[in-house]
Amino acid sequence: MIRALVFDFDGLILDSEGPVFEAWSEVYRRHGQELSQSFWVTIIGRSPGFFDPFAELEKLVGHSLDRDALQDERRLRERELVEAQPVLPGVREWHRDACRMGLKLGVASSSSASWVTGHLERLGLGGWDCIRCREHVRQAKPAPDLYQAALACLGVTAGEALAIEDSEHGVAAAKAAGLLALAVPCSLTSSHDLSSADLVLGSLKERSLAQVMVDLRSASTVSRVR
Ligand SMILES: [Mg+2]
Repeated sequence: MIRALVFDFDGLILDSEGPVFEAWSEVYRRHGQELSQSFWVTIIGRSPGFFDPFAELEKLVGHSLDRDALQDERRLRERELVEAQPVLPGVREWHRDACRMGLKLGVASSSSASWVTGHLERLGLGGWDCIRCREHVRQAKPAPDLYQAALACLGVTAGEALAIEDSEHGVAAAKAAGLLALAVPCSLTSSHDLSSADLVLGSLKERSLAQVMVDLRSASTVSRVR
């Protein structure tokens, strides 16, 4: 029986993945370079420290850059683009329904706690029982640490929790921790292999939380919902 939902943040609650990529792409373009989208999609869901876009750009242009100045500009642009994004379809309804059903609510994100909590507050999405981010664990996704930390904090077992993720690394982390996983790809993760998820939806608007709970209950006797 599902007693808790654990949401990913980037690309799941808010399509911040497109804006983050675009803000970095603009920095690259100003230096006559192109940031590879096909590479970028392979690192989505991991810790931001996994790949250093500045080191890569410095290698491409052949000299060091004023990282602080560029970082300030990039962050401003990123914020502008992210704040223009609406909460993704169905998220508010799922959040509201989970509260009404008395489920525990968590967030497990490879991003920083300040990024996640700042945006959640700005969007008016509160009521979380537990938020676990990259500074709370040794390894970000695809390692299971963030989900294990969320389960411990929520006081539920892996079999009692449903993870909701947009990326392959996120689904891998959830499954490695033993949770059921619902995958809902965002604009940049539609090419990800999400086949290890128990259920894949185009958006959370596609099916209600109550309907998915029924789907997953029947899945436990039929192995998987596809
Ligand atoms: Mg994500």
